[in-house]
Amino acid sequence: MGGGIAGLTAAYDLAAGGHDVVLLEAADRVGGKLRREDVAGVSVDVGAEAMLNRRPEGVDLARSLGLAVEHPTVASSRIWTRGALRPLPRSLMGVPLDLDQLVASGVLSDEGVDRVRLEPTLPPEVIDGDVSVGDLVSRRFGDEVTDRLVEPLLGGVYAGRSREISARAAVPQLVVLAERGSVLEQAAAIPTTYDLPVFAGLPGGMAGLPEALAGAGTFRVRTGVTVRELVRVADGFRVTLGPTTHPEALDVDAVVLATPAAPTGRLLTDLAPVAAAELAAIESASMAVVTLAFRVSDVPDLAATTSSGFLVPPVDGRRIKASTFSFAKWGWVREAGRGALDREDVLHLRTSLGRHREATALQAADEELVAASLADLALAVGLAARPVDTHVQRWGGGLPQYAVGHLDRVARIRAALDAVPGLVVCGATYDGVGVPAVIGSAHRAAGELAAPGTMEP
Ligand SMILES: Cc1cc2nc3c(=O)[nH]c(=O)nc-3n(C[C@H](O)[C@H](O)[C@H](O)COP(=O)(O)OP(=O)(O)OC[C@H]3O[C@@H](n4cnc5c(N)ncnc54)[C@H](O)[C@@H]3O)c2cc1C
Repeated sequence: MGGGIAGLTAAYDLAAGGHDVVLLEAADRVGGKLRREDVAGVSVDVGAEAMLNRRPEGVDLARSLGLAVEHPTVASSRIWTRGALRPLPRSLMGVPLDLDQLVASGVLSDEGVDRVRLEPTLPPEVIDGDVSVGDLVSRRFGDEVTDRLVEPLLGGVYAGRSREISARAAVPQLVVLAERGSVLEQAAAIPTTYDLPVFAGLPGGMAGLPEALAGAGTFRVRTGVTVRELVRVADGFRVTLGPTTHPEALDVDAVVLATPAAPTGRLLTDLAPVAAAELAAIESASMAVVTLAFRVSDVPDLAATTSSGFLVPPVDGRRIKASTFSFAKWGWVREAGRGALDREDVLHLRTSLGRHREATALQAADEELVAASLADLALAVGLAARPVDTHVQRWGGGLPQYAVGHLDRVARIRAALDAVPGLVVCGATYDGVGVPAVIGSAHRAAGELAAPGTMEP
């Protein structure tokens, strides 16, 4: 149950194994955080808009469904900090790997750079269990690196705070390097030139992926049905769904729970109380994506940009935390905008707002979030035109927070669920929030369920 990319992938895998699968989704459409909406006559992503290409699961799944894959046409993101847009120096999730580039970028003050220069003199880290990314980075590189580089990058992925997010879960490579010694001294050994582009997307939007999975027709899809209860019965599980006034019972052999942590925890309260308690302890961050469409003729300078957008460190006190110039980043978005509005060309870009424990920043009308985005864009890139169309997508509790100790917590959840044969979990709560990681967790869940002796086809 849960018709995001995790639930759909697990359903697709199980159906391919010959199982009779029904997918239950509370919303009126499948896809979860992969969703598109019409803005100025063009259907654009209003949730996830890219996937890592260096992890194979997302691209492999798309190709196996016959979907074309596209890579960003520009890949130069910048940081809006200390009053200017600055190039993003070579980094590992914001941790600088090239001192010369860092200095040239101007992202840090002179004192901040001096502190970074001390890193090679520090002894290797001894990390007992886990540590937050921010604490580890501050210890080695100073607070400025955490605040101006790591915070915006982690904020982009988790909408979280670097001093709370688990280093072992979010940036395991950094932990390995720091335990060995100086990160900067080992930086040269970290490859940065790959044969493969870092990111991939789908022409028409990432939302095409869930639609293709559901559209394959290999399993049944029921939307608009909220699963409210899950109990064990003699041969499997009884699922209760629908409104309390008209409940419907569905008896099944096995269950994949691909819902976010909070509903998953609620559904497991009686069946697996230890797992339920662990799930209840996982917090989430809310955010909003504001999509703005402009007439190209109104924004000629912006239309010529070769940048894919910029990130904003919270320490700079802006309202937005990032902006993606979708028209510059994705060839298909630019193409789709040609002649889209009364035969005039339009371009699309988006901003994102909202960080963990800053839900109040989102407690504003849609128009206010649009106005805040326009105000920040005016300061950052001098954008003064009025948009021809806007769309605000709110993602309440949209991103799970991988707090310090997350990996151990997930191990405890899985251990508790071992006592409930025929039930598995997957999704962004467990093994990574990025689309490929989520797909990977779904493959794993389906594989566990289909293992010999667990469930008959
Ligand atoms: C704004 C935003 C931008 C992002 N950008 C990127 C990106 O560019 N690249 C990237 O790799 N990742 C990105 N991510 C992360 C990624 O999109 C998600 O982690 C991933 O899509 C989550 O998939 P999921 O299937 O685990 O969960 P979801 O997509 O949350 O799906 C869970 C589904 O369960 C349903 N559900 C909940 N409760 C019930 C119930 N009781 N009964 C039935 N159904 C229920 C929900 O309606 C939902 O459809 C982004 C996330 C957000 C929020």
